[in-house]
Amino acid sequence: MSDHKRMRLSRKMQGLAPSAVREILKVAERAEVTSFAGGLPAPELFPTSEIAAAFAHVLANAGGRALQYGATEGSVPLRAWIAERLARRGVTSAVDRLLITSGSQQGIDLVARVLLDPGDVVLTENPTYLAALQAFAAHEALVIGVPSDNDGMKVDELEAFCVRHTPRLIYLCPDFQNPTGITLSAERRVKLVDIARRYQIPVLEDDPYGELRYRGTAPNAIAALDDDWVLRLGTFSKTLAPGLRLGWIHGPEDIIRRLAIAKQACDLHTATLAQAAAAHLLETFDFDGHVSKLCAEYGRRRDAMVKALVNTMPPGTRWTEPEGGLFLWVELPPGVRDQDVFDAAIARGVAVVPGNGFFVGAPRHGFLRLNFSNQKPEAITSGITRLAESIRGLMELGRPKTPTDRPALSRS
Ligand code: PMP
Repeated sequence: MSDHKRMRLSRKMQGLAPSAVREILKVAERAEVTSFAGGLPAPELFPTSEIAAAFAHVLANAGGRALQYGATEGSVPLRAWIAERLARRGVTSAVDRLLITSGSQQGIDLVARVLLDPGDVVLTENPTYLAALQAFAAHEALVIGVPSDNDGMKVDELEAFCVRHTPRLIYLCPDFQNPTGITLSAERRVKLVDIARRYQIPVLEDDPYGELRYRGTAPNAIAALDDDWVLRLGTFSKTLAPGLRLGWIHGPEDIIRRLAIAKQACDLHTATLAQAAAAHLLETFDFDGHVSKLCAEYGRRRDAMVKALVNTMPPGTRWTEPEGGLFLWVELPPGVRDQDVFDAAIARGVAVVPGNGFFVGAPRHGFLRLNFSNQKPEAITSGITRLAESIRGLMELGRPKTPTDRPALSRS
């Protein structure tokens, strides 16, 4: 990105690259493309008429309050509902232990503001959620990846990282992670909390996808295992609609107060109208029934994608089979590179996200992230078939392109 001609950018902005996924989404948005690239929930499943009725009710009955400035901490009825919901994952919360945020993305940013100084180390899974990397970079933190496998972050290796790097935060997405779809095992959650307590390191548990479970049973939230060291983020983006921009942070009361001070400086408070409408909606609507409907449909789409991968992918390709969430992670046959697959697949009208941008430190080029929530099963089958043809085509070429053949995806 070239610098502005007149205005001097801050040091932190100079080092900040645009998100690789956002750049790709511009291509993926073309009408003729079957996109597995975004992280979008399916718009046809938004409870649009119920949301419209909730906004209309609030405006008709409490318009003055709903359109006025509000408390930074957020709507009390909304926080009370969230506290009750958190109990289902074993978390003891309360109105005073919750701050409403403008999406969970703002939660990541606020936690970074409150807990990190420039140069502080944040440990994450590797690969990890890209926009969290951006938020940490904006606060000049140094992010270090801890290796992950099919059970999530390798917590057995975490202690050595804590000794070596003295981190100030451990960030992870333990349920159906973005980008891999992997869930941190119950056993590792217990070990993680033990390490966090012994080394006195805050844990940021980012859970946008936990409600979207299609099979298996949910382990306890990490925040259920500890009251002092865990901050937990949640959101209505995947269960209601991302355009509401409603998320929350649960944590110890004194840290929530600090986070509220930081939020005042950012945006005073999250939109009062959206909060009031959501609080009214949640009182009057069958949220559990709605989530079950989402899980049934997304589960079908996930099954369609796994089946199509089984039926079409060339030998040497592997993938995760997540029990929920929106993504799965494909490991390409040896020697096939993610960016070449991206180009070949786009030529066949299919968009995927090359995996390299999700890695902390040295990028790895043999992976793709696929989203299955935003395409219907028939489109998934046809898109995955074309993706498999693209990969086979590259394998037949024999010599996949070298890294110097093309520019880096985003980090220019
Ligand atoms: N964390 C993770 C892991 C995500 O995947 C996302 C959205 N894609 C977010 C946070 C942000 O979600 P929102 O701000 O819409 O709540």
